[in-house]
Amino acid sequence: MIRKTKILKTPSSAALLRWYDRCARDMPWRMKGGKRPDPYHELLSEFMLQQTQVATVIPYFLSFTKRWPSIAHLAKATLDEVRAEWSGLGYYRRAKFLHECAKVIVAQHKGIVPQDEAALRALPGIGAYTAAAIAAIAYDKKAVVVDGNVERVMARVFAVEEPLPGAKKKLYELAASCLPQKRFGDYAQAVMELGATICTPKNPQCPTCPWKNDCVAFASGTMERYPLKGAKQKTPQKFASVFIAMNKKGEVLLTRRAEKGLLGGMWEFPTTPWEQEKPTLHIERRHAPAKLVWQKLETPVRHVFSHFKLEMALRIGHSAAAFSVQDREYRWMKWKNLSTLALPTLTRNVADAARNHVKKS
Ligand code: SF4
Repeated sequence: MIRKTKILKTPSSAALLRWYDRCARDMPWRMKGGKRPDPYHELLSEFMLQQTQVATVIPYFLSFTKRWPSIAHLAKATLDEVRAEWSGLGYYRRAKFLHECAKVIVAQHKGIVPQDEAALRALPGIGAYTAAAIAAIAYDKKAVVVDGNVERVMARVFAVEEPLPGAKKKLYELAASCLPQKRFGDYAQAVMELGATICTPKNPQCPTCPWKNDCVAFASGTMERYPLKGAKQKTPQKFASVFIAMNKKGEVLLTRRAEKGLLGGMWEFPTTPWEQEKPTLHIERRHAPAKLVWQKLETPVRHVFSHFKLEMALRIGHSAAAFSVQDREYRWMKWKNLSTLALPTLTRNVADAARNHVKKS
């Protein structure tokens, strides 16, 4: 009965905004006290924050804005430069989309980030959430901004009994029903901030929450029950062998991945295809970049992507001289110069493991 009465109550946006004014974290792209951020900063931060924590993003945001202080500067950079600056941040398609997005904004919008959600959605790499976030936060437009944090808050405040991902539409409608009459940008940030800092997945800090008096889950002590989730799928496991070829000049061989697909256009050490079975000796021989004596390292490098896990066995080979690789763009590089290339975290980890081994042996 209590639940039914409370579920009809919209939580107080005024209380949430008061809490936000007092408690919001400082971020290099965030403006407070009624000021709006530079739309370029807002756009850049949204690209970087997709699937990535604030603390990880901050140094990248600062280095990008120092090197490319405006959309126009970023549009003039080469894709390789943008990718190299993005190295280590993960989800590398974002770097390519960001660069394309900057070029389209310069070519079609006179270098000004559009204000309208539909125009924003037409830009490369910008989906419904990012368009709503930029419209609301950079331009104070009325927009429903729903990320995973907002979904969790809504699911708890209204005790939504439908599991995710099926509940997404309902959670979006509930989020829309809570919008205030003004301060749309601050409100959008406030709900996300609430989810990120107070209404956390585990141990939400309900006694300090500005919505505690309006929250059905808190009233019934069932906060961590929400959001309900459908049965979890097991993450697939893949395997590969990776070849670190070294020559007498102390250089290592890298190749560039195909432009399309996972880690598109990034640099890596040559590998066997990533498959569900460990590669056989025959497959290793077929995909090794040269006929060398390949030393097998016992400890593999493991990496988790969003949709599968990868285990890579390391193979180290020494060659008297540099050699060429058929059908692939390749480069011989000194260890110390690897950081000048666009390297995904996986390649960096393989490089670290191989280098540690070489130093010890
Ligand atoms: S009262 Fe607790 S569960 Fe409810 S919104 Fe606040 S932090 Fe989340």
